Amino acid sequence: MSQQATEQVHGHYIGGEWTTAGDERTFESHDPATGEVLATFRRGTESDVDAALEAADEAFEEWRSLSYIDRAEYLWDIYHELRDRHEELGEIVTKECGKEISEGKADVTEAWHMVEWAAGNARHPHGDVVPSEVAGKDAYMRRKPRGVVGCITPWNFPVAIPFWHMAIALVEGNTVVWKPAEQTPWCGQIIAEMFEDAGIPDGVFNMVQGYGDAGATITDDERVDTVLFTGSAEVGHEIADKVGGEPGKLAACEMGGKNGIVITEEADLDVAVHAAVMSSFKTTGQRCVSSERLIVHTDVYDEFKDRFVDVAEKVAVGDPLEDATFMGPAIEADHVEKIRRHNELAVEEGAEVLVDRFELADEEIPDGHDEGHWVGPFVYEIDYEPDLRCLNEECFGPHVALVEYDGDVDRALEIHNDTPYGLAGAIISEDYRQLNAFRDRAELGLAYANLPCIGAEVQLPFGGVKKSGNGYPSAREAIEAVTERTAWTMNN
Ligand code: NAD
Repeated sequence: MSQQATEQVHGHYIGGEWTTAGDERTFESHDPATGEVLATFRRGTESDVDAALEAADEAFEEWRSLSYIDRAEYLWDIYHELRDRHEELGEIVTKECGKEISEGKADVTEAWHMVEWAAGNARHPHGDVVPSEVAGKDAYMRRKPRGVVGCITPWNFPVAIPFWHMAIALVEGNTVVWKPAEQTPWCGQIIAEMFEDAGIPDGVFNMVQGYGDAGATITDDERVDTVLFTGSAEVGHEIADKVGGEPGKLAACEMGGKNGIVITEEADLDVAVHAAVMSSFKTTGQRCVSSERLIVHTDVYDEFKDRFVDVAEKVAVGDPLEDATFMGPAIEADHVEKIRRHNELAVEEGAEVLVDRFELADEEIPDGHDEGHWVGPFVYEIDYEPDLRCLNEECFGPHVALVEYDGDVDRALEIHNDTPYGLAGAIISEDYRQLNAFRDRAELGLAYANLPCIGAEVQLPFGGVKKSGNGYPSAREAIEAVTERTAWTMNN
């Protein structure tokens, strides 16, 4: 999409056609680093969603009748396009969601990793041969696609997460209606163009742009068999409660976290500082796996605090297109206000502020970027108490608590597990017994030892427990959400 294209209003991709039908409402995509308008999009209505679901429903029978390998061929085309356009797409991700440029490109890399996994998996077994109690009987577990899959995705991985959902759903034989996040419609437009270029049959893939109302129209419709949702716990639990109550419907929801890193008295502090800085400030703290709690043993607390604070004071906030930048802007003005409220809440609850760069100094804001949504690190220490909201509620920003503990790893785990969330976390220690205790007893889906708690590998399940997820992490386990199992018994 060129800059001249900002004059144009971009539409939805429904039944193999681009359409700007529906009402006249539009919305804009902005560069969060400059405030510049990038492009204008039609805002999806009930009638757009209805048309997309109709197209997906109609296309289902023919699509499911193709072989796995034929279905995967369309994804292989997209895999090559993602690779060929890596630089260009990485810059678009950075322009639209403000992640610094290496992260923008990594978003695209992760997308092709998932496409590669899903398309490659088409050549792997999709069921089980099971022994029968009766000689001469064959017994199998076979998988069938569920039907129409509604995909609802967040802004912070605008290329990777849609493919985490859609690549698997499509290869398994489902058709898809997808709503990209309202903050990143440009990435949505480009992904839809890729499906069009790959020649995917009409109606198999459909994309409706818009806000949460369009998302809710998708999730609530009876033609949708599975909802794949990634986003906030507020929205995800609302969807899971509504959809989960309907017979035959399933909602797989991956949500936020209040992730912690335990730094024990046996930690290598070089490793600890690196892990904490990466986990707390990459993507300006706006990852579901970002760490907002550093739980540090009293023996190493003061040294760790001094070193972490030193880096937090200096970490480079700036133009995300510049290689030297570590943190870009927050996604939008409303989100800056949300981060401000979390910072203020911590102070109300007794936090001792160690670093307050929430409002950047004028000289830190890059030239020509006055309209950007700038925030810097906010680091505080606080005495642990079980009901503190600042240690329980996800801020989704560069907002980090240091919590000192005394005692053994059981005490660290008690503090670590005392949050309603259970997505990601890490332990930093040279003692294998402490690592094993964390691996076995930390309440989370993604556990790291002597590493930052961010990062993903598509061949591992990616998802959370407790308030963070409802049991369908990505990849192999996500297949459960988009297929039904049939027990098939045959008399020979
Ligand atoms: P969000 O929940 O506000 O929005 C996510 C998507 O849901 C958007 O497309 C939005 O339009 C749509 N939506 C909003 N209301 C809806 C409704 N009532 N019905 C249906 N759809 C609706 O989240 P966000 O701000 O885009 O993303 C940030 C959140 O996502 C954070 O909480 C973060 O932790 C989480 N997240 C989780 C993961 C994970 O894998 N667990 C990954 C990335 C982000």
